Amino acid sequence: MPYFVPLVAFGRIESAETPLAFTPRLVLTTHMLKLAGPGLDEPLTTLTGVGEARAALLERLGLRTVGDLLLHAPRRYEDRTHKKAIHDLVLQETTAVQGVIQAMGVKSWRQGTGNLFEIILSDGQDRLHCRWWNQPYLEKQFAVSQSLLVYGRISSVRPRTMDNPEFEPLEEAEAQIHLGRVVPVYPLTEGIRQRWLRSLIWHALADHAGSIESSWGDLRRQAEAVTGKPMPVSGALLAVLPDRREAIRQLHFPATLAAATTARQRLALEELLDLQVELRRRRQRLVAGAPGRACPSDNRLIKPFLARLGFKPTAAQVRVLREIRADLSHAVPMRRLLQGDVGAGKTLVAACAALMTIEAGVSVVIMAPTEILAEQHFRTFERWFQPLGVPVELRTASRRVEADVPAQEPRLRVGTHALLSAGAAPDNLGLVVIDEQHKFGVAQREALVRQGVYPHLLVMTATPIPRTLGLTVYGDLDVSVLDELPPGRGVIRTFVRGPEKLPQVWQFIREKLQAGRQAYVVYPRLEESDTAASIKAAAEELGVVSQAMAPFQVRLLHGRLPAEEKERIMREFAANQVQVLVATSVVEVGLDVPNACVLLVDGAERFGLAQLHQLRGRIGRGGHSSWCVLLARQMTVEARHRLRVLEETADGFRIAEEDLRLRGPGELLGQAQSGLPPFRFAELKTDHDLVVLAAWLATHALQP
Ligand code: ADP
Ligand code: MG
Repeated sequence: MPYFVPLVAFGRIESAETPLAFTPRLVLTTHMLKLAGPGLDEPLTTLTGVGEARAALLERLGLRTVGDLLLHAPRRYEDRTHKKAIHDLVLQETTAVQGVIQAMGVKSWRQGTGNLFEIILSDGQDRLHCRWWNQPYLEKQFAVSQSLLVYGRISSVRPRTMDNPEFEPLEEAEAQIHLGRVVPVYPLTEGIRQRWLRSLIWHALADHAGSIESSWGDLRRQAEAVTGKPMPVSGALLAVLPDRREAIRQLHFPATLAAATTARQRLALEELLDLQVELRRRRQRLVAGAPGRACPSDNRLIKPFLARLGFKPTAAQVRVLREIRADLSHAVPMRRLLQGDVGAGKTLVAACAALMTIEAGVSVVIMAPTEILAEQHFRTFERWFQPLGVPVELRTASRRVEADVPAQEPRLRVGTHALLSAGAAPDNLGLVVIDEQHKFGVAQREALVRQGVYPHLLVMTATPIPRTLGLTVYGDLDVSVLDELPPGRGVIRTFVRGPEKLPQVWQFIREKLQAGRQAYVVYPRLEESDTAASIKAAAEELGVVSQAMAPFQVRLLHGRLPAEEKERIMREFAANQVQVLVATSVVEVGLDVPNACVLLVDGAERFGLAQLHQLRGRIGRGGHSSWCVLLARQMTVEARHRLRVLEETADGFRIAEEDLRLRGPGELLGQAQSGLPPFRFAELKTDHDLVVLAAWLATHALQP
């Protein structure tokens, strides 16, 4: 396995019957920043003030070594640099004040049940009362005439008073850990106090920051040494980002709030660089050590195929096919991501790529995420390929169709995860196509590729991946984009409605059915992992819809139905014997019934925008105008705001960007997307510039 670097490790196929039992043991090496240097691996008990008990508490924060402690990032900062004259203090203001202790003492309070320690602080002009309840021991820490910094909220102005302020005697305030500066506020756990942890980190930095080793050298110099490759705009950041050691210092005790930001950016850049360099190494190992099979094609099959297809490929499809053809003709295995909005015609691209490979005398598999989609592909490809004499087979957990031809004969095998079982892929495998890639994990994608001798790989997705994510999650793939929809598509209009509008919505759908169209009704509650309760709920929904739609035929489609039944329902819907399909989000992936032009999503606020966009892609496939109704059961301000994006745009790319911004990368890519690397400092949501910079540096400045 020469190209098989630590990025992905695999488990066994544990059972041929339940191929989902395939468990990747370790999916991605973490790219979370780690510190190296003498003493940084020492346990925290080597620090003054940390015994076994405290060490155990710190471990709850994930802190074991000195290095861990130095990477414990503040949750936020408080700017305590500005001191004010007591005279200028106003009610409720939070601020730092410097003064001299004029008087102090403990008073008892509430008939002696409580006590109050009070200091009167003078700045030469005015006086400030500082009060602490039930901490009489504080008295021992202060003396009259001593200089003191306090930080707190003004709870009263007559006289001016602070309750429970933080304090720092000025003699030792050379160190000024807690006041008179921008102060870090850390995540804590019970038993660890903010002030104590802050001091601990302060002293750990003083003793150990000097031994932090830098790992990337002087990035700015290396970037400047690159000639002829224009640096991205974010390259300007290199002039202001501190080196790693300084970044760690500024992360905790920044000179200004802005310095805290650049410190985090520097550390995030390092994480992103780690990942980018890793991805490039992986690619190089693939090129160097994984001989694939050149598949020169002669158009023998493609020509007649396109001639009888009935429509012309779009310019985008032609361009992408040219890219794929160039890849296939080389012995370096293709690793290509095809990104195309819903309805852009990815299936046709897959079909042509398959024919190119079969022309070269080797087999192809196409893997789809659900049985419903695999069955649909099977039907499409049978229709397309049978006239050409190309065998088409099916392999899912519940159904197998095998062509009656010799084992060596090239063929297309369509299937689900079942293709991952040992021996399930055909011999002589030349190309693997993975449809709706975002529904699979990285490990699954790789598992199939490794079954043959490094077949070519084409993964397809309709989730338009914002560039930031594309560079990180799919950084090891070449990307082709289908940026053009086939001509003659009807317009889709989208409306967001509350449940009170449901009667009108039903009426509207009936009108469309009467005009000969069909409709989807999607419920998020009908999950794929159906329990008895949710199946019962589904049956009830079905009853409601059937009644509202009578006499039109309504059927329920969900992931747990037996395969033949799903297949039958899909056939009936495709043939317009069934007019309304009530479904779970299984219809999200790839169903293609051009006469269906109404989509109602009930509980739309529970879906991500990208997912709703996918659902919406089920309609608007024919020449008819289409309508998408997003019914929000709980119309919060946030939901309203999110869903409006779909009313406003059909641009999948913009929608995905918005989803990334509003919900973060995990939501956008779905749980199956285990390829998302965990970071400590990098934030894919916001660090677009850093990702681009890291990719540029890894490509041009840091030769792995
Ligand atoms: P997706 O990219 O979402 O997988 P499909 O491959 O299912 O989209 O294509 C959507 C529909 O568009 C299908 O009915 C397909 O046959 C049709 N189609 C694909 N390419 C073209 C084209 N060049 N011209 C006209 N229709 C096309
Ligand atoms: Mg598709």
